[in-house]
Amino acid sequence: MLCERFATCAFFKTYKNDISNRQYEFLIATYCEGDLRPQCKRMKWRQNKKEEPPETLLPNGYLIGSISRVYD
Ligand code: SF4
Repeated sequence: MLCERFATCAFFKTYKNDISNRQYEFLIATYCEGDLRPQCKRMKWRQNKKEEPPETLLPNGYLIGSISRVYD
């Protein structure tokens, strides 16, 4: 089942065209509609910090264009 936030997810709305189709499909398959959805760092950020995560934060905790995880 697809994450209820997918249609409005700021990361995908903003950066869909800045990542490869392969990465796009992989992130959706593993996080947004996959087993890792409960571990999505965008959701955890929202829950823990009570604020929206940066648009640049991927569901895996990396910032777009970064090779290091910024949120765990
Ligand atoms: S990135 Fe996270 S919050 Fe956004 S649609 Fe996917 S699972 Fe939901």
